[in-house]
Amino acid sequence: MPTGDLVRKDIAVIGGGFSGTVVSVQLLRHAPNLSLGVIDKNVRPAVGLAYGTDHAAHLLNVPAGQMSAFASEPDHFLKWAEQDYEFPVDSRSFLPRALYGRYLLALLEETCAAHSLHFDWIRDEALAVRREKAGFLIHTRSGQRVLAQTVVLALGNFPPGNLGIHGLRTDSRCYQRLAWSKEALAGLADNNQVLLIGSGLTSVDITIALRANGFKGRIHILSRHGLVPQCHSPSLPWPGFQDESLPRTIRGLVRLIRNQAAAAAEASGDWRAVMDSLRPLVQEIWQSLPIEERRRFLRHIRTYWEIHRHRVAPDVGQTFFKMIASGQVQVHAGRITSYSEINSDGKNLAQVTFRDRYSASAKALEVDRVVNCSGPETNFRKIDSALLASLFEQGLVRQDPLGLGLDVDRNGALLDCTGTPSRCLFALGPARKGMLWETTAVPELRVQAANLADHLLRAPLAHQSVPQTVGAAVSSEILQR
Ligand SMILES: Cc1cc2nc3c(=O)[nH]c(=O)nc-3n(C[C@H](O)[C@H](O)[C@H](O)COP(=O)(O)OP(=O)(O)OC[C@H]3O[C@@H](n4cnc5c(N)ncnc54)[C@H](O)[C@@H]3O)c2cc1C
Repeated sequence: MPTGDLVRKDIAVIGGGFSGTVVSVQLLRHAPNLSLGVIDKNVRPAVGLAYGTDHAAHLLNVPAGQMSAFASEPDHFLKWAEQDYEFPVDSRSFLPRALYGRYLLALLEETCAAHSLHFDWIRDEALAVRREKAGFLIHTRSGQRVLAQTVVLALGNFPPGNLGIHGLRTDSRCYQRLAWSKEALAGLADNNQVLLIGSGLTSVDITIALRANGFKGRIHILSRHGLVPQCHSPSLPWPGFQDESLPRTIRGLVRLIRNQAAAAAEASGDWRAVMDSLRPLVQEIWQSLPIEERRRFLRHIRTYWEIHRHRVAPDVGQTFFKMIASGQVQVHAGRITSYSEINSDGKNLAQVTFRDRYSASAKALEVDRVVNCSGPETNFRKIDSALLASLFEQGLVRQDPLGLGLDVDRNGALLDCTGTPSRCLFALGPARKGMLWETTAVPELRVQAANLADHLLRAPLAHQSVPQTVGAAVSSEILQR
């Protein structure tokens, strides 16, 4: 698309990972003549952050039977994988994330082929959204402008924030803030030492990637609690919580889970099945909790929740725990007290000291690389994003009161600075975390995408079709990869 053209769309989706792709597919399935544009900065369309990995050892952490892009067609992914994956597959298989990326791309290409007249994939970064009389004007990094009646933000997770560690140099090669960037693990020698800050799924991912790269050195994982994600394991389904009244306090929630886990264990079951049967109720429980109770959850329960709820595939867990048992991976609990870099024999080393959580003693590490695996920044005011800055500046959005995302209503409509829900500006995915808490993975996001598509197609504005393109014709870039 030549620079400077104005493209007009009924709906523009900013972000073309899982959520942006699936909401677009849903919209076009139900409104084939809708004029729709997706603006995505990723070089590879549809895969987003999660499914762009090339490591075969990076597996989905949800079984194939629950990874369909459509809740109404639960076997959609499974059927596709049965045809397109070279190994046998069943609904309990934990398949490679790269394969899932291919599935999303196939879905997108199918949609492009069927709707090439009205659908455009714009490989670009949205830098600002400005409210105009005629709609929202989106400015992109390459100078393009897209005028849309309705805008959906499907931006996914943002990189981790600044760790606030004195002495940490963000411009140094030793310290890598973006765990999934190519540079994060580049240039490491087999016998180097690496420190991963944070002990959640990201650090497991990076450990697995290091192993796949043939890295033989020591990997230190450091977090406040030193707790690592649990593993999935086959367990009988647990009947669920239908007969239980839902807790209104965190204490009640913890008691409920403990009682159910004990009952499951007595019946030769497993706490994992209890967590899984609770999952469909989490959004409802979260919304019914008073804000003080939600804060209490974040303060006291979050870490324990994360490691039980966000589990890794059995094969990944097996590899990871073997690496811990062999001593190659060492997990530490504590708080970093100092960071400095020295030059030794022509190479930079990071010297990190931390106060051990259990012994209260000071411990020191000297490593070749430090990778920030502390999880996405959710305080949208602190995120370094021109797009978010433009939205805040115009008062079009506000942060949710818990600092977990953007403030939205039940349909995902963004609340402006006065708390009024927009009729034309929506968020999809992790940005809704303050409202929903459970809004991270495919089983929830596909429902959100379908509901949002349905909502948008019922809204009067979405029916006001606007002329498609002013200026040169727009091509579907996705088909020219
Ligand atoms: C490593 C990893 C593994 C995961 N594994 C699983 C799993 O196995 N199963 C599961 O269910 N969930 C998994 N998840 C959760 C995952 O977040 C969701 O499944 C899903 O991919 C989230 O989709 P999304 O569209 O919200 O974000 P993403 O897929 O990350 O998409 C966001 C897109 O927006 C683009 N973008 C952002 N800002 C702009 C801008 N200003 N202009 C243009 N484009 C922009 C980004 O480049 C990106 O392409 C995993 C997450 C991660 C990080």
